[in-house]
Amino acid sequence: KTFQELKLPEHLLKAIFEMGFERPSAIQEEALPRILANPPRNVIGQAQSGSGKTAAFVVGMLFRVKIDAPATCQALCVTPTRELAVQIFQNAVTPMAAHMKGLKVRLALSGEQIERGAKLDSHIVIGTPGKVVDWLKRRIIDAKNIKVFVLDEADNMVAESGHRANSLLIKKQMPKGCQSLLFSATFPSEVIAFAERMVHNPDKILI
Ligand code: AMP
Repeated sequence: KTFQELKLPEHLLKAIFEMGFERPSAIQEEALPRILANPPRNVIGQAQSGSGKTAAFVVGMLFRVKIDAPATCQALCVTPTRELAVQIFQNAVTPMAAHMKGLKVRLALSGEQIERGAKLDSHIVIGTPGKVVDWLKRRIIDAKNIKVFVLDEADNMVAESGHRANSLLIKKQMPKGCQSLLFSATFPSEVIAFAERMVHNPDKILI
């Protein structure tokens, strides 16, 4: 398969080729038709880092976002570490959104400050569970327009009870019809149980 055959929008194809990607990786080939489907499919993917899973879910987020002003949060990605959130932002979202003028992306990490009473003015939020819960509770993030919810490295999320609990709280706030995408390198039983609570009626992808 080619990226063209996966029916990516022109601006994403252009960005992907500029990044030097020629062909979809195995997980991209499996996951993208489901991620881009209408109505959207929920996906649980087993994929190691190096598989190209990040590009798969970032394409999904960018595909669903409509650039509006003032910006409303339409895609949310939670990760177990701040380093991973920064990596996704810098290495995937930024280059892939090269042709999405006006797109605003915000990291939700401890230490990030928001003025009292202020609302978030971003289309995409990437962060760790604790900060995302905090911003949802304080209504800094308004969840009602979120179309895609991504949970990366679910195995590492489950390994920390605070992260696990916060992820479940976030999931509860996602609006009806929101697409959920969950990725994990491994699926021991506790990760399976967690994934089933986080993602309803998923397509399961094994690479
Ligand atoms: P990940 O598995 O998401 O950590 O990605 C691993 C690496 O593969 C990253 O450096 C990506 O930029 C790169 N990558 C992702 N998809 C492709 C592709 N289709 N062709 C070539 N490189 C890719």
